[in-house]
Amino acid sequence: MGFRTDQIHAGVVPDPATGAILTPIHQSTTFVQPSVDDYMAKGYSYSRSANPTVSALQERLAVLEGGTGAWAFATGMAATNAVFMALLNAGDHAVVSDVAYGGTYRLATKVFSRFGVEFTFADTSDLDAVAAAVTDRTRLIFTETPANPTLKYTDIAGVSNIATSRGIPHAVDNTFLTPYFQRPLELGADLVVHSTTKYFDGHNATVGGAVVCRDEDSSEAVGFVQNAAGLIMSPMVAWLTLQGSKTLSERIERQSANAQAIAEFLESHPRVDSVTYPGLASFPQHDLAVKQASGFGAMAWFEVEGGVEAGKLLMRSLRLWTLAENLGSVESLITHPATMTHSDVEPEERLRVGITDGLVRISVGMEDAEDLIDDLARGLQLL
Ligand code: PLP
Repeated sequence: MGFRTDQIHAGVVPDPATGAILTPIHQSTTFVQPSVDDYMAKGYSYSRSANPTVSALQERLAVLEGGTGAWAFATGMAATNAVFMALLNAGDHAVVSDVAYGGTYRLATKVFSRFGVEFTFADTSDLDAVAAAVTDRTRLIFTETPANPTLKYTDIAGVSNIATSRGIPHAVDNTFLTPYFQRPLELGADLVVHSTTKYFDGHNATVGGAVVCRDEDSSEAVGFVQNAAGLIMSPMVAWLTLQGSKTLSERIERQSANAQAIAEFLESHPRVDSVTYPGLASFPQHDLAVKQASGFGAMAWFEVEGGVEAGKLLMRSLRLWTLAENLGSVESLITHPATMTHSDVEPEERLRVGITDGLVRISVGMEDAEDLIDDLARGLQLL
């Protein structure tokens, strides 16, 4: 089936008890067993281990990413945590993209390092740097592409080749482009991570996460951790994510078209020093963005003349753009990563990987592009 069909139908059937077209929200802690001998006859016992609404979403996610199994988590960070827990032991080493969501960096440096796991934050846009970072103890390569917030791309097939030749699993955080635009498993990756909070939900309504696995062994390992560590998504969030996912393709197409128009506007504006958007010819990795994915996404960033203070003034003066963390939703949001999403990354590390203090990140929503541009034009005029 095509993506648009799968995003609506995969994983769900009309409710056998009532005919309800939407999978019910199975808001139940426990599931009554017919007898001791028939324990788990219907597949469910306790909602930390498995829940039918969550299972429906998991099935859909596995189909959309093309994996053998998918697991839904309480948050995107719980999903990343599950990958680390499933694949890393004390004494192991992992290579992680040097630009990644700040929470991933925090989880690695402030939590897993305490349990004897060592991390190298490598420039994964450079295949030689990835190969050089791998050691005999490396048990995971974790990349995020495009990366939050600089939008640096990693060549998924290139890194997967290095990983496969060394027998190391490659996990890709595919939150920014979703399987509608980018399919890491087809490019050779072994696991895909999502913050479903972003485009899968798409309505600023939930926090959630997912891991999709290429093979059954890693899927079993991630599923084990989902239960053992108690990281599963709630039925209500799974239900909302099922509804959001039905329009994923249409939303991300529209949002990306808006982003392209806004990036072109910003690039031509005299008060804007620089604009970074993968759909611009000026984007340093434009060729890789074209080769690796079928769309450029709806995230962009820019720096205004006058640095941090001018950036703050702009963010204060906008009316339609909302100053808030999160991304991927139908509402357009604007963020200052240095003080918001990436405040836990040390200032020197932020600067080293290109997260300058003046960087203003935008998540373009589904409003009329003209209105979003007018608002930015008005704000920029005040600088
Ligand atoms: N991965 C990426 C690329 C993100 O942008 C985020 C959050 O912003 C996460 C993972 C973590 O997701 P969550 O906030 O749902 O825990």
